[in-house]
Amino acid sequence: MLTETPIKDVIEEIEGYGGDPVKYCYQCGKCDTVCPWNEVRSFSMRKLIREATFGLTEIENEEIWRCTTCGRCQEVCPREVKQIQDMIAVRRMATGYGVFPEHIKPIRAVTAGLGAEGNPFGEPRANRADWSKGLDVKTYEEGMEALYFPGCYLCYDPRLKKVAVATAKILNAAGVDYGILGEEESCCGESIRKTGNEEMFKELAKANIKNWIEHGVKKIVVSSPHCYHTFKNEYPEFNVHFEIVHISEYICQLIKEGRLQFNKEYAKKVTYHDPCYLGRHNNIYDEPRDVLNQLPGLELVEMPETGVNSLCCGMGGGRIWVDTIMADRFVNLRLEQAVATGATELVTTCPYCVTNFEDARVVMNLDNQIEIKDLTEVLAELL
Ligand code: SF4
Ligand code: SF4
Repeated sequence: MLTETPIKDVIEEIEGYGGDPVKYCYQCGKCDTVCPWNEVRSFSMRKLIREATFGLTEIENEEIWRCTTCGRCQEVCPREVKQIQDMIAVRRMATGYGVFPEHIKPIRAVTAGLGAEGNPFGEPRANRADWSKGLDVKTYEEGMEALYFPGCYLCYDPRLKKVAVATAKILNAAGVDYGILGEEESCCGESIRKTGNEEMFKELAKANIKNWIEHGVKKIVVSSPHCYHTFKNEYPEFNVHFEIVHISEYICQLIKEGRLQFNKEYAKKVTYHDPCYLGRHNNIYDEPRDVLNQLPGLELVEMPETGVNSLCCGMGGGRIWVDTIMADRFVNLRLEQAVATGATELVTTCPYCVTNFEDARVVMNLDNQIEIKDLTEVLAELL
Protein backbone atom coordinates (compact mmCIF):
# COMPACT_ATOMS: atom_id res chain seq x y z
CA MET A 1 0.00 0.00 0.00
CA LEU A 2 1.30 3.38 -0.99
CA THR A 3 1.60 5.48 2.15
CA GLU A 4 3.32 8.66 1.03
CA THR A 5 3.53 10.41 -2.30
CA PRO A 6 6.97 11.72 -3.22
CA ILE A 7 7.62 15.07 -1.54
CA LYS A 8 8.40 16.90 -4.80
CA ASP A 9 5.18 15.64 -6.42
CA VAL A 10 3.07 16.88 -3.53
CA ILE A 11 4.61 20.35 -3.54
CA GLU A 12 4.37 20.65 -7.34
CA GLU A 13 0.77 19.45 -7.39
CA ILE A 14 -0.25 21.96 -4.74
CA GLU A 15 1.58 24.76 -6.54
CA GLY A 16 0.04 23.75 -9.85
CA TYR A 17 -3.42 24.11 -8.40
CA GLY A 18 -2.87 27.60 -7.05
CA GLY A 19 -2.07 26.41 -3.55
CA ASP A 20 1.38 27.92 -3.45
CA PRO A 21 0.45 30.25 -0.55
CA VAL A 22 0.71 27.27 1.86
CA LYS A 23 4.26 28.45 2.36
CA TYR A 24 2.99 31.72 3.89
CA CYS A 25 1.18 29.89 6.70
CA TYR A 26 2.72 30.81 10.04
CA GLN A 27 0.71 28.25 12.01
CA CYS A 28 -1.40 30.72 13.99
CA GLY A 29 -4.26 28.24 14.13
CA LYS A 30 -7.03 30.79 13.45
CA CYS A 31 -8.40 28.47 10.77
CA ASP A 32 -9.01 25.78 13.38
CA THR A 33 -10.87 28.14 15.70
CA VAL A 34 -13.58 28.86 13.09
CA CYS A 35 -13.75 25.49 11.33
CA PRO A 36 -17.17 23.88 11.92
CA TRP A 37 -15.54 20.48 12.37
CA ASN A 38 -14.19 21.63 15.70
CA GLU A 39 -17.75 22.10 16.93
CA VAL A 40 -18.31 18.34 16.63
CA ARG A 41 -14.85 16.73 16.80
CA SER A 42 -11.16 17.54 16.58
CA PHE A 43 -9.81 18.56 13.15
CA SER A 44 -6.79 20.65 12.21
CA MET A 45 -6.48 22.40 8.87
CA ARG A 46 -3.41 24.08 10.35
CA LYS A 47 -1.75 20.67 10.65
CA LEU A 48 -2.76 19.64 7.11
CA ILE A 49 -1.31 22.90 5.77
CA ARG A 50 1.91 22.26 7.68
CA GLU A 51 2.23 18.80 6.17
CA ALA A 52 1.46 20.11 2.67
CA THR A 53 4.08 22.84 3.01
CA PHE A 54 6.76 20.21 3.46
CA GLY A 55 5.26 17.73 0.97
CA LEU A 56 4.48 15.31 3.79
CA THR A 57 0.82 14.75 2.93
CA GLU A 58 -0.29 11.15 3.24
CA ILE A 59 -2.92 10.54 0.59
CA GLU A 60 -4.66 7.77 2.51
CA ASN A 61 -5.18 10.11 5.47
CA GLU A 62 -8.96 10.37 5.94
CA GLU A 63 -8.59 13.95 7.14
CA ILE A 64 -7.86 15.21 3.61
CA TRP A 65 -11.52 14.43 2.76
CA ARG A 66 -13.03 16.24 5.71
CA CYS A 67 -13.01 19.89 4.53
CA THR A 68 -16.45 20.94 3.24
CA THR A 69 -14.88 23.92 1.45
CA CYS A 70 -17.19 26.19 3.45
CA GLY A 71 -14.68 29.04 3.23
CA ARG A 72 -14.86 30.11 6.86
CA CYS A 73 -11.15 29.66 7.48
CA GLN A 74 -10.27 31.78 4.45
CA GLU A 75 -12.20 34.68 5.97
CA VAL A 76 -9.91 34.77 9.02
CA CYS A 77 -6.54 33.58 7.71
CA PRO A 78 -4.07 36.48 8.08
CA ARG A 79 -1.75 35.06 5.40
CA GLU A 80 -4.29 34.39 2.65
CA VAL A 81 -3.44 30.71 2.54
CA LYS A 82 -5.72 28.98 0.05
CA GLN A 83 -6.81 26.09 2.25
CA ILE A 84 -9.54 24.88 -0.12
CA GLN A 85 -7.27 24.74 -3.17
CA ASP A 86 -4.69 22.90 -1.10
CA MET A 87 -7.18 20.24 -0.05
CA ILE A 88 -8.45 19.80 -3.61
CA ALA A 89 -4.87 19.44 -4.80
CA VAL A 90 -4.15 16.61 -2.36
CA ARG A 91 -7.49 14.96 -3.19
CA ARG A 92 -6.49 15.08 -6.85
CA MET A 93 -3.45 13.03 -5.97
CA ALA A 94 -5.52 10.52 -3.98
CA THR A 95 -8.06 10.28 -6.80
CA GLY A 96 -5.22 9.86 -9.31
CA TYR A 97 -3.92 6.87 -7.36
CA GLY A 98 -7.47 5.57 -6.75
CA VAL A 99 -6.95 5.80 -2.98
CA PHE A 100 -10.28 6.32 -1.18
CA PRO A 101 -11.09 5.65 2.48
CA GLU A 102 -14.10 3.34 2.91
CA HIS A 103 -16.68 6.10 3.52
CA ILE A 104 -15.47 8.05 0.47
CA LYS A 105 -15.94 5.11 -1.90
CA PRO A 106 -19.52 6.14 -2.92
CA ILE A 107 -17.81 8.77 -5.04
CA ARG A 108 -16.92 6.00 -7.49
CA ALA A 109 -20.63 5.39 -8.22
CA VAL A 110 -21.21 9.14 -8.49
CA THR A 111 -18.39 9.37 -11.04
CA ALA A 112 -19.84 6.46 -13.04
CA GLY A 113 -23.27 8.17 -13.10
CA LEU A 114 -21.76 11.44 -14.24
CA GLY A 115 -19.83 9.74 -17.03
CA ALA A 116 -22.77 7.65 -18.26
CA GLU A 117 -25.76 9.98 -17.78
CA GLY A 118 -24.39 13.42 -16.89
CA ASN A 119 -25.81 13.31 -13.35
CA PRO A 120 -24.45 11.97 -10.04
CA PHE A 121 -27.45 9.70 -9.43
CA GLY A 122 -26.93 7.68 -12.62
CA GLU A 123 -30.56 8.40 -13.56
CA PRO A 124 -31.40 8.35 -17.28
CA ARG A 125 -30.45 11.56 -19.03
CA ALA A 126 -33.73 11.29 -20.94
CA ASN A 127 -35.68 11.90 -17.68
CA ARG A 128 -33.92 15.13 -16.83
CA ALA A 129 -36.86 17.37 -17.74
CA ASP A 130 -39.58 15.13 -16.25
CA TRP A 131 -40.15 17.62 -13.43
CA SER A 132 -41.53 20.12 -15.98
CA LYS A 133 -44.23 17.84 -17.41
CA GLY A 134 -47.65 19.53 -17.34
CA LEU A 135 -46.10 22.94 -16.65
CA ASP A 136 -45.71 25.78 -19.11
CA VAL A 137 -41.96 25.32 -19.51
CA LYS A 138 -40.48 25.70 -23.01
CA THR A 139 -37.30 24.34 -24.54
CA TYR A 140 -34.69 27.09 -24.70
CA GLU A 141 -34.38 28.92 -28.02
CA GLU A 142 -31.90 31.61 -29.00
CA GLY A 143 -33.16 35.09 -28.22
CA MET A 144 -35.08 34.11 -25.08
CA GLU A 145 -34.56 36.24 -21.99
CA ALA A 146 -32.82 33.49 -20.04
CA LEU A 147 -31.89 29.83 -19.86
CA TYR A 148 -33.11 28.24 -16.62
CA PHE A 149 -30.59 25.66 -15.33
CA PRO A 150 -32.22 23.69 -12.45
CA GLY A 151 -29.21 21.39 -11.82
CA CYS A 152 -29.15 17.68 -10.95
CA TYR A 153 -30.89 17.67 -7.56
CA LEU A 154 -33.85 19.70 -8.81
CA CYS A 155 -34.20 17.50 -11.88
CA TYR A 156 -34.11 14.11 -10.15
CA ASP A 157 -34.62 14.27 -6.38
CA PRO A 158 -38.32 13.93 -5.42
CA ARG A 159 -38.05 16.59 -2.67
CA LEU A 160 -36.09 19.04 -4.77
CA LYS A 161 -38.26 18.66 -7.89
CA LYS A 162 -40.78 20.74 -5.93
CA VAL A 163 -38.27 23.58 -5.97
CA ALA A 164 -37.92 23.38 -9.75
CA VAL A 165 -41.71 23.47 -10.07
CA ALA A 166 -41.95 26.46 -7.71
CA THR A 167 -39.26 28.27 -9.70
CA ALA A 168 -41.09 27.68 -12.98
CA LYS A 169 -44.30 29.02 -11.43
CA ILE A 170 -42.51 32.19 -10.33
CA LEU A 171 -40.84 32.76 -13.70
CA ASN A 172 -44.18 32.19 -15.45
CA ALA A 173 -45.98 34.57 -13.08
CA ALA A 174 -43.40 37.27 -13.88
CA GLY A 175 -43.86 36.69 -17.62
CA VAL A 176 -40.18 35.76 -18.13
CA ASP A 177 -39.45 34.37 -21.59
CA TYR A 178 -37.21 31.49 -20.56
CA GLY A 179 -36.51 27.90 -21.50
CA ILE A 180 -34.64 24.82 -20.32
CA LEU A 181 -32.28 22.47 -22.15
CA GLY A 182 -33.62 19.31 -20.50
CA GLU A 183 -31.65 16.21 -21.41
CA GLU A 184 -28.95 18.31 -23.05
CA GLU A 185 -28.06 19.75 -19.64
CA SER A 186 -25.22 18.08 -17.70
CA CYS A 187 -24.12 18.38 -14.07
CA CYS A 188 -22.14 21.59 -13.47
CA GLY A 189 -19.28 19.44 -12.13
CA GLU A 190 -18.75 21.44 -8.94
CA SER A 191 -18.82 18.66 -6.38
CA ILE A 192 -16.83 16.15 -8.41
CA ARG A 193 -14.10 18.76 -8.92
CA LYS A 194 -13.95 19.24 -5.15
CA THR A 195 -13.25 15.51 -4.79
CA GLY A 196 -10.22 15.99 -7.01
CA ASN A 197 -11.60 14.55 -10.25
CA GLU A 198 -10.45 17.27 -12.61
CA GLU A 199 -10.95 15.18 -15.74
CA MET A 200 -14.64 14.56 -15.05
CA PHE A 201 -15.15 18.22 -14.20
CA LYS A 202 -13.65 19.27 -17.53
CA GLU A 203 -15.75 16.75 -19.45
CA LEU A 204 -18.98 18.06 -17.89
CA ALA A 205 -18.01 21.72 -18.22
CA LYS A 206 -17.13 21.32 -21.89
CA ALA A 207 -20.44 19.55 -22.61
CA ASN A 208 -22.43 22.38 -21.00
CA ILE A 209 -20.40 25.12 -22.64
CA LYS A 210 -20.72 23.52 -26.09
CA ASN A 211 -24.51 23.32 -25.67
CA TRP A 212 -24.84 26.88 -24.51
CA ILE A 213 -22.78 28.20 -27.41
CA GLU A 214 -24.72 26.10 -29.94
CA HIS A 215 -28.03 27.37 -28.53
CA GLY A 216 -26.91 30.99 -28.40
CA VAL A 217 -27.30 31.21 -24.62
CA LYS A 218 -26.29 34.53 -23.03
CA LYS A 219 -27.93 34.60 -19.61
CA ILE A 220 -28.34 31.62 -17.24
CA VAL A 221 -30.56 31.59 -14.16
CA VAL A 222 -29.55 28.90 -11.67
CA SER A 223 -31.10 27.46 -8.51
CA SER A 224 -28.05 25.94 -6.88
CA PRO A 225 -25.31 28.14 -5.39
CA HIS A 226 -22.90 25.36 -6.39
CA CYS A 227 -23.85 25.70 -10.08
CA TYR A 228 -23.76 29.48 -9.66
CA HIS A 229 -20.24 29.47 -8.24
CA THR A 230 -18.92 27.08 -10.86
CA PHE A 231 -20.47 28.80 -13.88
CA LYS A 232 -19.56 32.27 -12.68
CA ASN A 233 -16.09 31.75 -11.25
CA GLU A 234 -14.74 28.54 -12.79
CA TYR A 235 -16.14 28.16 -16.33
CA PRO A 236 -14.30 31.38 -17.37
CA GLU A 237 -11.17 29.16 -17.13
CA PHE A 238 -12.38 27.87 -20.53
CA ASN A 239 -12.36 31.41 -21.98
CA VAL A 240 -16.13 31.80 -22.05
CA HIS A 241 -18.33 34.37 -20.37
CA PHE A 242 -22.05 33.97 -19.76
CA GLU A 243 -24.19 36.11 -17.51
CA ILE A 244 -24.91 33.98 -14.44
CA VAL A 245 -27.73 34.93 -12.08
CA HIS A 246 -28.85 33.12 -8.94
CA ILE A 247 -32.61 32.76 -8.64
CA SER A 248 -32.66 34.86 -5.44
CA GLU A 249 -30.98 37.75 -7.27
CA TYR A 250 -33.30 37.32 -10.22
CA ILE A 251 -36.45 37.34 -8.09
CA CYS A 252 -35.20 40.46 -6.33
CA GLN A 253 -34.73 42.12 -9.70
CA LEU A 254 -38.17 41.01 -10.96
CA ILE A 255 -39.79 42.52 -7.85
CA LYS A 256 -37.90 45.80 -8.32
CA GLU A 257 -39.00 45.96 -11.96
CA GLY A 258 -42.62 45.45 -10.89
CA ARG A 259 -42.90 42.15 -12.74
CA LEU A 260 -43.57 40.19 -9.55
CA GLN A 261 -45.80 41.21 -6.70
CA PHE A 262 -46.71 39.43 -3.50
CA ASN A 263 -49.74 40.85 -1.75
CA LYS A 264 -50.98 37.85 0.21
CA GLU A 265 -50.11 37.50 3.89
CA TYR A 266 -47.33 35.15 4.98
CA ALA A 267 -47.85 35.47 8.72
CA LYS A 268 -44.98 33.27 9.85
CA LYS A 269 -41.73 33.60 11.74
CA VAL A 270 -38.90 32.37 9.53
CA THR A 271 -35.14 32.22 9.76
CA TYR A 272 -32.78 32.28 6.79
CA HIS A 273 -29.72 30.06 6.39
CA ASP A 274 -26.93 31.47 4.17
CA PRO A 275 -25.54 28.69 1.97
CA CYS A 276 -21.71 28.84 1.90
CA TYR A 277 -21.51 29.06 -1.88
CA LEU A 278 -24.03 31.90 -2.10
CA GLY A 279 -22.81 33.87 0.92
CA ARG A 280 -19.14 33.51 1.75
CA HIS A 281 -18.05 32.42 -1.72
CA ASN A 282 -20.15 34.93 -3.68
CA ASN A 283 -21.22 37.65 -1.27
CA ILE A 284 -24.96 37.24 -1.85
CA TYR A 285 -26.44 37.87 1.58
CA ASP A 286 -28.98 40.64 1.04
CA GLU A 287 -31.12 39.54 -1.90
CA PRO A 288 -32.80 36.51 -0.30
CA ARG A 289 -33.48 38.57 2.84
CA ASP A 290 -34.78 41.50 0.79
CA VAL A 291 -37.25 39.17 -0.92
CA LEU A 292 -38.43 37.68 2.40
CA ASN A 293 -38.78 41.13 3.96
CA GLN A 294 -41.15 42.17 1.15
CA LEU A 295 -43.70 39.53 2.15
CA PRO A 296 -46.59 40.98 4.18
CA GLY A 297 -46.78 39.50 7.67
CA LEU A 298 -43.47 37.62 7.51
CA GLU A 299 -41.14 38.04 10.49
CA LEU A 300 -37.49 37.31 9.69
CA VAL A 301 -35.31 36.31 12.65
CA GLU A 302 -31.58 35.60 12.48
CA MET A 303 -29.61 32.70 13.90
CA PRO A 304 -26.44 33.39 15.96
CA GLU A 305 -23.97 32.37 13.23
CA THR A 306 -25.30 34.24 10.23
CA GLY A 307 -24.13 36.07 7.11
CA VAL A 308 -20.39 35.74 6.68
CA ASN A 309 -20.27 33.59 9.83
CA SER A 310 -22.97 31.19 8.64
CA LEU A 311 -22.52 27.66 9.94
CA CYS A 312 -22.00 25.26 7.03
CA CYS A 313 -24.57 22.48 6.64
CA GLY A 314 -21.72 20.05 5.94
CA MET A 315 -22.54 18.97 2.39
CA GLY A 316 -20.04 21.01 0.36
CA GLY A 317 -16.68 19.85 -0.92
CA GLY A 318 -18.15 16.63 -2.32
CA ARG A 319 -19.35 15.51 1.13
CA ILE A 320 -22.90 15.36 -0.17
CA TRP A 321 -21.92 11.99 -1.67
CA VAL A 322 -20.26 10.41 1.36
CA ASP A 323 -21.46 9.05 4.67
CA THR A 324 -21.09 11.29 7.70
CA ILE A 325 -21.71 9.64 11.06
CA MET A 326 -24.38 11.17 13.27
CA ALA A 327 -21.92 12.61 15.81
CA ASP A 328 -20.08 14.46 13.05
CA ARG A 329 -23.08 16.21 11.49
CA PHE A 330 -22.88 19.92 12.18
CA VAL A 331 -26.18 20.33 10.34
CA ASN A 332 -27.76 19.14 13.61
CA LEU A 333 -26.24 22.11 15.44
CA ARG A 334 -27.52 24.45 12.77
CA LEU A 335 -31.03 23.06 12.99
CA GLU A 336 -30.97 23.51 16.78
CA GLN A 337 -29.97 27.15 16.21
CA ALA A 338 -32.91 27.57 13.84
CA VAL A 339 -35.40 26.05 16.29
CA ALA A 340 -34.03 28.21 19.13
CA THR A 341 -35.02 31.38 17.23
CA GLY A 342 -38.65 30.35 17.55
CA ALA A 343 -39.02 30.24 13.76
CA THR A 344 -41.42 27.69 12.34
CA GLU A 345 -39.67 27.67 8.95
CA LEU A 346 -36.03 27.47 7.99
CA VAL A 347 -35.66 29.03 4.55
CA THR A 348 -32.59 28.63 2.38
CA THR A 349 -31.63 28.66 -1.30
CA CYS A 350 -29.45 25.60 -1.87
CA PRO A 351 -30.46 22.02 -2.77
CA TYR A 352 -27.69 20.51 -0.64
CA CYS A 353 -28.78 22.52 2.40
CA VAL A 354 -32.46 21.61 1.87
CA THR A 355 -31.58 17.91 1.56
CA ASN A 356 -29.41 17.94 4.66
CA PHE A 357 -31.83 19.93 6.81
CA GLU A 358 -34.76 17.74 5.77
CA ASP A 359 -32.76 14.71 6.84
CA ALA A 360 -31.71 16.28 10.15
CA ARG A 361 -35.27 17.40 10.90
CA VAL A 362 -36.49 13.80 10.80
CA VAL A 363 -33.47 12.25 12.53
CA MET A 364 -33.71 14.79 15.37
CA ASN A 365 -37.49 14.40 15.75
CA LEU A 366 -37.99 18.08 15.00
CA ASP A 367 -40.34 17.57 12.07
CA ASN A 368 -43.29 18.88 14.12
CA GLN A 369 -41.43 22.01 15.12
CA ILE A 370 -39.87 23.39 11.96
CA GLU A 371 -40.34 23.14 8.21
CA ILE A 372 -37.55 23.43 5.64
CA LYS A 373 -38.25 25.49 2.54
CA ASP A 374 -36.45 26.82 -0.44
CA LEU A 375 -37.08 30.54 -0.96
CA THR A 376 -38.99 29.79 -4.18
CA GLU A 377 -41.37 27.46 -2.33
CA VAL A 378 -42.35 30.25 0.06
CA LEU A 379 -43.06 32.58 -2.87
CA ALA A 380 -44.90 30.02 -4.99
CA GLU A 381 -47.42 29.57 -2.14
CA LEU A 382 -48.33 33.23 -2.50
CA LEU A 383 -48.99 33.23 -6.26
S1 SF4 B 1 -5.17 30.73 9.65
FE1 SF4 B 1 -3.84 30.73 7.84
S2 SF4 B 1 -1.79 31.28 8.66
FE2 SF4 B 1 -3.06 30.66 10.41
S3 SF4 B 1 -2.64 28.44 10.66
FE3 SF4 B 1 -4.45 28.61 9.37
S4 SF4 B 1 -3.65 28.56 7.27
FE4 SF4 B 1 -1.91 29.04 8.63
S1 SF4 C 1 -13.13 25.50 4.40
FE1 SF4 C 1 -14.52 25.21 6.15
S2 SF4 C 1 -14.50 23.00 6.56
FE2 SF4 C 1 -12.72 23.46 5.27
S3 SF4 C 1 -11.05 23.76 6.77
FE3 SF4 C 1 -11.91 25.79 6.24
S4 SF4 C 1 -13.40 26.18 7.85
FE4 SF4 C 1 -12.96 23.96 7.90
